[in-house]
Amino acid sequence: MNSFIFKNDSLHAENVALNTIADTFGTPCYVYSKSALVHAFESFSAGFKGSNHLVCFAVKANPSLAILNLFAKLGAGFDIVSGGELARVLAAGGDPKKIVFSGVGKTEAEMQAALNAGIFCFNVESASELIRLNKVASDMGKVAPVSLRVNPNVDAKTHPYISTGLKNNKFGVAYEDALNIYLQAAAMPGISIHGVDCHIGSQITELSPFLDAFDKVLLLVDALEQHGISIQHIDAGGGIGICYSDETPPEFTDYAAAMRAKLGNRNTKLVFEPGRALVGNAGVLLTKVEYLKHTESKNFAIVDAAMNDLMRPALYDAYHDIKAVQPRNDANALTYEIVGPVCESGDFLGHDRDLSLVEGDLLAIMSAGAYGMSMASNYNTRPRAAEVMVDGDTCHLIRKREEIANLFALENILPET
Ligand SMILES: *Cc1c(COP(=O)(O)O)cnc(C)c1O
Repeated sequence: MNSFIFKNDSLHAENVALNTIADTFGTPCYVYSKSALVHAFESFSAGFKGSNHLVCFAVKANPSLAILNLFAKLGAGFDIVSGGELARVLAAGGDPKKIVFSGVGKTEAEMQAALNAGIFCFNVESASELIRLNKVASDMGKVAPVSLRVNPNVDAKTHPYISTGLKNNKFGVAYEDALNIYLQAAAMPGISIHGVDCHIGSQITELSPFLDAFDKVLLLVDALEQHGISIQHIDAGGGIGICYSDETPPEFTDYAAAMRAKLGNRNTKLVFEPGRALVGNAGVLLTKVEYLKHTESKNFAIVDAAMNDLMRPALYDAYHDIKAVQPRNDANALTYEIVGPVCESGDFLGHDRDLSLVEGDLLAIMSAGAYGMSMASNYNTRPRAAEVMVDGDTCHLIRKREEIANLFALENILPET
């Protein structure tokens, strides 16, 4: 479903023209479509209807309270990777009993907070973490529900920075070591083994890596059963890709059908951790062209959004479609570098885009709902953008634009000596 469409030659979010949003809230501004978010969550879940499952939105993709609250009301659980994300989910009304806690560096304080909240499961990523969690839980008189995150060592065929399921990376434990670590866990009084977890990477556009990984997880589940360890849930992680340009990621229904077929008639609960797939295409970054600059070999459109607002192009050389909000005659199009004002040559949002532009035009950086605002920074002392959610005819400001004075409000200069 596409909630960002042209009506009367003007790009809209649902029923609201993006130029109206720019007039009201300024630019740069993230704009989300509520119906796109609801549709993504419901269509992901639909494939698992009638089966024992839990969809845990990966908070790091977009931690907006409004988005978390919307998903919580639809019945979502949450995949968190820090104590900060735990606090956010609770503040947004998320159910602690539907939280899974991933991440390779959980501190004692984070473990305590999650145990106090009563989360669904810790996804433990190393033998050392298991030992620490056992101690922290035992000291609190609690028992921690645990899955071990295993690396099935399948190639997710994605960008190397966002592939996590291979042997030699910092995530999870090697598949070959998993059984032994489970046996150690089984003997720990502060640990209760609940599941097996795997997450192989992000922006995966084929089904086969998911299925190969799931096969290996099922083999491990069987081996554990033979050792008297019964597994109540399998967490298949996230990672389903979205279409940024011409990718054809698996349909949710095909993904669900294939996973359910693999599971067969086991009555193990399935847990998923989709992030990007639920929010990526539900948001755009709205920006204004400040200057056009023509050099001998290139045309630059310098816009008021930058790598601090949307880091993916600079970080991964990621592609985002860029649309003029009110397109002009294509006959006057030039090929532009779309760049931000940040003092880095890597500060670009798009290369070689054919657009007809004049200064002051608005552009929409498409598919910016995932890993956009969540990775934004204050580099160059730039306030982070406003965030707006559109619901039909109505716009809601869900995060105010940051104010410059607040960017250094926590700082002190040295006293006079
Ligand atoms: C980032 C992450 C996800 C979400 O990945 P997407 O590609 O956004 O679906 C899920 N699980 C874990 C453990 C992650 O680190």
